[in-house]
Amino acid sequence: MADPKGFLKTRERELPARRPVALRLMDWKEVYEQGDAATLRRQAGRCMDCGVPFCHQGCPLGNLIPEWNDLMRRGEGRQAIERLHATNNFPEFTGKLCPAPCESSCVLGINQPPVTIKQVEVSIIDQAWANDWVEPHPPERLTGKTVAVVGSGPAGLAAAQQLTRAGHTVAVFERDDRIGGLLRYGIPDFKMEKKVLDSRLKQMQAEGTRFRAGVNIGDDISWSDLRARYDAVIVATGSTVPRDLPIPGRDVAGVHFAMEYLVEQNRVVAGDTVTDQITAEGKHVVVLGGGDTGADCIGTAHRQNALSVTNLAIGTQPPLERPEHQPWPTAPTLFEVQSAHEEGGERMYLASTVEFLSNEVGEVRAVRIAETEYVDGRRVPKSGTEREIPADLVLLALGFTGPESQGLESQLSLPFEQGVPARAHNYETDYSGVFVAGDAGRGQSLIVWAIAEGRAAASEVDRFLEGDTLLPAPVRPTDRPISL
Ligand SMILES: Cc1cc2nc3c(=O)[nH]c(=O)nc-3n(C[C@H](O)[C@H](O)[C@H](O)COP(=O)(O)OP(=O)(O)OC[C@H]3O[C@@H](n4cnc5c(N)ncnc54)[C@H](O)[C@@H]3O)c2cc1C
Ligand code: SF4
Repeated sequence: MADPKGFLKTRERELPARRPVALRLMDWKEVYEQGDAATLRRQAGRCMDCGVPFCHQGCPLGNLIPEWNDLMRRGEGRQAIERLHATNNFPEFTGKLCPAPCESSCVLGINQPPVTIKQVEVSIIDQAWANDWVEPHPPERLTGKTVAVVGSGPAGLAAAQQLTRAGHTVAVFERDDRIGGLLRYGIPDFKMEKKVLDSRLKQMQAEGTRFRAGVNIGDDISWSDLRARYDAVIVATGSTVPRDLPIPGRDVAGVHFAMEYLVEQNRVVAGDTVTDQITAEGKHVVVLGGGDTGADCIGTAHRQNALSVTNLAIGTQPPLERPEHQPWPTAPTLFEVQSAHEEGGERMYLASTVEFLSNEVGEVRAVRIAETEYVDGRRVPKSGTEREIPADLVLLALGFTGPESQGLESQLSLPFEQGVPARAHNYETDYSGVFVAGDAGRGQSLIVWAIAEGRAAASEVDRFLEGDTLLPAPVRPTDRPISL
């Protein structure tokens, strides 16, 4: 990689430290350590306070990055968290888990490494928690209006916090036994320990948000009954339908969706007993699909002492550097190396999976793959290139096709468009008073977008209930990352 001025080395040195692999493999604790104060100040001080800060645009929340960089540079941590919380309810989630599209649009990034914005962000909130600066903000008066938020992922939580603070009485319904959505049962502790989530939930409870876990809306309470009981409803149920791979052998034992596997291990880490847990221990594991879900499967399999871990991707390997067709300030698709990848395993590109092969008792024993070739823009297996790779456990991390539609269609008659409930610019559906936010509305996405949509939907619900709103609305449902 061309780096005549050694900028990339500088950036590597300034990224957060990771605990040594030998120690990490033994436990489920977060991989990243807190950054040291001097490095953070230096990074924050690199911010140029641009006249037109493109990083605002790159961040779906419109985080006021130059402002808090400057405050951190000056050691004003308390003011920094206030500016950060002004646009982001949960900087600990984004500071640990966001892919940081803001850094792709940092002006410094034109000719040198961008400011490590995400690292500054997480340090601000870590410092705030450590100093008890994160306090509950209960409303001064109640409006007497009630809102049901269905789904307790980042979208539902952000909406609930905004509306509670605006004085509405908010109940968050969650069908799982614990609150948190994918932050609880999707994302492993080595990326974000659950105590981080629990601290924030405590603050929300102290503000007055009510949590109702173990309630499946559409089943335990119908959607129409819920709407009748509350003045407004926000559907923040996520994008939970996994993309399948209907090829020969799909039904052999040992081929699972990634979420079946990850949820079980997250439960075990939380102290639950899981009978017949799907585990990678002593197995050759093949993970189909890249992305965050695939990486989480890889990291989990390593911690369970898999014999080998192979990650297959059907497409080409993304480039290491920004390609010409994705110039600054867009967020380019680059070859990503997460901590889970560094811990081991093999990554194979242009690998089309054509069959799952089983042994005599019906358990998966191998995956037959072929080289991918592009025919008329379609990716197809190239004949004559087939080969087998051993597999005792196969995990499908191929993304999600959208939210579950049953109850919403049958009980509220909500029309679906392109796999998601149709909604207007104000997040409202055809059913008056029912709004949709987060992955349930935009399809599989990111935590930062979920928080942004939760905040924006909350402001629209507030307007619906009160006729006007003071809550900020950072994004519209159609907003997308900066692209060409
Ligand atoms: C394994 C994995 C790892 C990821 N890692 C990252 C990452 O590192 N960084 C990142 O930015 N993004 C990541 N993502 C994506 C990110 O987690 C999602 O975009 C985000 O959580 C979406 O938030 P949400 O609130 O819309 O929905 P979710 O977090 O999916 O929450 C929806 C909740 O609604 C509940 N629910 C559904 N239907 C009902 C019902 N009928 N009644 C009651 N409750 C219901 C569900 O149980 C769930 O808890 C990851 C996704 C996965 C699957
Ligand atoms: S939320 Fe994500 S995009 Fe926004 S400032 Fe933080 S790391 Fe950057």
